[in-house]
Amino acid sequence: MTHIAVLRGDGIGPEIVEEGLKVLRAAATRFKLDLTFTEALVGGAAYDATGHPLPDATRSLCEGADAVYLGAVGGPKYDKIPDPNLRPERGALLPLRKILGLYANLRPAVLYPALASACPLRADKVVGGFDILVVRELTGGLYFGQPKGWEGDRAVDTCVYTKEEIVRITRVAFESARRRPRKSVMSVDKANVLETSRLWRTTVEEIAKEYPDVTLTHMLVDACAMALCKNPQQFDVILTENLFGDILSDEAAELTGSLGMLPSASLGAGGKGLFEPSHGSAPDIAGTGKANPLATILSGALLLRYSAGAEEAAVAIEQAVERVLGDGFRTADIAGADAPGVLNCTQMGDLVVKYVTNPN
Ligand code: NAD
Repeated sequence: MTHIAVLRGDGIGPEIVEEGLKVLRAAATRFKLDLTFTEALVGGAAYDATGHPLPDATRSLCEGADAVYLGAVGGPKYDKIPDPNLRPERGALLPLRKILGLYANLRPAVLYPALASACPLRADKVVGGFDILVVRELTGGLYFGQPKGWEGDRAVDTCVYTKEEIVRITRVAFESARRRPRKSVMSVDKANVLETSRLWRTTVEEIAKEYPDVTLTHMLVDACAMALCKNPQQFDVILTENLFGDILSDEAAELTGSLGMLPSASLGAGGKGLFEPSHGSAPDIAGTGKANPLATILSGALLLRYSAGAEEAAVAIEQAVERVLGDGFRTADIAGADAPGVLNCTQMGDLVVKYVTNPN
């Protein structure tokens, strides 16, 4: 049984999570999965109801769950909360990451052939689309190393990595690559300059020996930033440290041109995970039915893959999304001039459910 804590959050969060849940339930029925869903308040909605963006009840629900399925938090109303520790992102998302011990962030950047025109690159460079998975280390590197701070006119950040941190993220990348058709990992570092990158490279090479079926190559981060814009199709899984991953995952995401299409997974100790769309709460379109639920639906597929061990069901959801797009259906944010009709959030969710339930 997989216990899922469901946190809808703010803005479009409730609408997109509703569609995500419908799709997860349809997949559970078809593949006979034992999933339980328990809802709790988070973000601004929780602050309004209880005075805190991550109330104790939500905290303990997440501690006991196998996976957390999150919509989005925040909105203009909550930016004005005087105590910054009670604002949704700082008061809910950061503690949630800590509680779940999240150390790996997985951001698929998929350019579906049907949406190729949304890509900012020249069309001839992305014929057939691309499918990149960025695996970013979340706990180490320059963001957390000590010493850190200001000393008069001097400021210091320290980049630290331990072998153990590199080993566990490397395993996530190789396990992920193993499930993908191309089975290849590109490890990105700056080993020509940084000591932490040298440790990174030797450790990755050591762990790679456990995965003879997966191909490993290395690339320097500056070369990778260029290669992503020049030939994104060469990449399968990109494995990298915290700062480089922060930048490269945004660059890869931008190449898909569709914020409403980008799922994410963050994995913690013992297979626990947080699954959420990469976008925010989109307060400008909340309640209008214009929200694209596909990023949330695809995050549900990642939940099934990484926290429920249900690969077949995950693939069925991903294929249903691809089919919906291939058949020309669009929400407003991804509708080009040639789209036959624009669906609202609920209609898009219903269509994915239909294709998951009956793929033929
Ligand atoms: P945003 O991602 O919410 O929206 C950016 C633009 O993209 C908006 O025009 C929005 O309408 C559109 N958009 C986003 N998701 C969409 C979807 N699924 N379908 C259709 N259009 C979509 O970013 P923002 O406007 O900078 O932030 C809004 C709020 O969200 C802020 O309060 C911010 O702090 C919060 N936020 C939360 C998270 C999170 O919960 N993890 C992440 C980022 C931002």
